[in-house]
Amino acid sequence: MGLLRSVVEKKGYKPIGACEIIMPSNIFFIPDGRTCDDKVRTGLVKAEKYALSILDGSSRWGRVPVLSDAMHTISSGLLKLAEADLHQKYIKFRADKSKCSKCCICVDICPVGNIEMGEYPETGNNCQYCLRCVSFCPRSALPCMFNYKGKTYRAVDLEDFRE
Ligand code: SF4
Ligand code: SF4
Repeated sequence: MGLLRSVVEKKGYKPIGACEIIMPSNIFFIPDGRTCDDKVRTGLVKAEKYALSILDGSSRWGRVPVLSDAMHTISSGLLKLAEADLHQKYIKFRADKSKCSKCCICVDICPVGNIEMGEYPETGNNCQYCLRCVSFCPRSALPCMFNYKGKTYRAVDLEDFRE
């Protein structure tokens, strides 16, 4: 989590701890609904414990020698790759015009404002590949080459998410 720590520090925060919570993937292989629900439940329990450890001052920023450095290098490389212009140009989510209802949900929920509404949604060059737009499109109008068999997953409903 070294890279995350340096990002947090650059933003002016003082990191006091970190905890890994593994949630169901919304990319590549997506398991059945029950397995995803179990993962979410386990993650919530862990998050609650971690929140309590922050409150009582026992949270720590864990570091595993060699492994942490290796993960830092890999994460930095992937981040640079994701930001590369070529990558942004060729791995773009383009709305399928025959399916898109122009509802603007994808525009509203992109966390980095990377989608603008023209005649159809248009993605810019600042995609973080979170797949939120793909997962929440009500018409499955944003095909994604990463999705296993075209499956998508989202842990919350759109309305919960917008509250
Ligand atoms: S969420 Fe889907 S249907 Fe709605 S505007 Fe975006 S691509 Fe079109
Ligand atoms: S994948 Fe995420 S960051 Fe990229 S356009 Fe969709 S919602 Fe925005």
